[in-house]
Amino acid sequence: MARAANAEVLLEVRNLVKHFPIRQGIIFSRQIGAVQAVDNITFNVHKGETLGLVGESGCGKTTAGRCILRLIEPTSGDVIFDGRNVPQLAKDELRDLRKEMQIIFQDPYGSLNPRMTVGDIIGEPLHIHKIAKGAEREKRVREILETVGLSAFHARRFPHEFSGGQRQRIGIARALAVNPRLIICDEPVSALDVSIQAQVINLLQDLQEEFGLTYLFIAHDLSVVKHISDRVAVMYLGKIVELTGKEELYRNPKHPYTQALLSAIPEADPTIKKERIILRGDVPSPINPPSGCRFHTRCPKVMDICRVQEPEFVDSGDGHYVACHLVPAAEGAGKN
Ligand code: SF4
Repeated sequence: MARAANAEVLLEVRNLVKHFPIRQGIIFSRQIGAVQAVDNITFNVHKGETLGLVGESGCGKTTAGRCILRLIEPTSGDVIFDGRNVPQLAKDELRDLRKEMQIIFQDPYGSLNPRMTVGDIIGEPLHIHKIAKGAEREKRVREILETVGLSAFHARRFPHEFSGGQRQRIGIARALAVNPRLIICDEPVSALDVSIQAQVINLLQDLQEEFGLTYLFIAHDLSVVKHISDRVAVMYLGKIVELTGKEELYRNPKHPYTQALLSAIPEADPTIKKERIILRGDVPSPINPPSGCRFHTRCPKVMDICRVQEPEFVDSGDGHYVACHLVPAAEGAGKN
């Protein structure tokens, strides 16, 4: 699907930070450190596009998604949705905004209340946001169920009566119920069988076309993101290290971490030989991240400067943003 990358910006994330304090002591507890889950990330999402946000588990991508929706409070930074700065909104303003920004969770088992019927699960946001009640609400629930490929009679059933793929369709229906403009898809297919993953991704793409939705699609798998994204941002240890259009990223990855991730994706064509880049060691702890470039402890191209100086996140040309000392900024390049 082609969506204009130059379209209007719907969501601006500026210098977003989320540090979880670590405390010691029960009565006089004091902060002894912090988990630096998200550390100063900046990106835009344009109207109607899908921005993929990828990285290994623990890199901060899910925390970033939750901070954007204020399901958890960010430590600092701005999240500007359609001109409103989400971290500064009062409770009632935030409740109104939640109609426009929804989330689909990773776990299609844990994210649905087992004691509620599917009709009540999908109808609940309609009730909370005073969108529809009574017969009108039931009609809307039936319509949404059919939109996501389920049937109206499923409204009377309970979540345990469905397969994983069907439950994720229920999660999508719940998000769609309030006519959102932005949906944060938080690893929506990671818990599903590969055969079902494609169905759910196709459904998300069809819904995007039909309703003009904008997605922030969070995943750890670059091959999944490739199918659905217009642009991709790669995260490592709380930082975005590369961000560009999908075609450009897969054809011309510039950050050594992205290069390593892409080298691990198997080729469908056995005649294409690809050299696998094996990264040494595990992802360091976000409690005490490495100095300078956070990737320096695992980077095959590490230089002395990388250990002491953090690389800036710069436009290397045509909106291809990279944070690496090996990649210079393009002359006169603009901001993301
Ligand atoms: Fe590797 Fe240095 Fe670039 Fe970091 S800044 S990715 S350590 S070359």
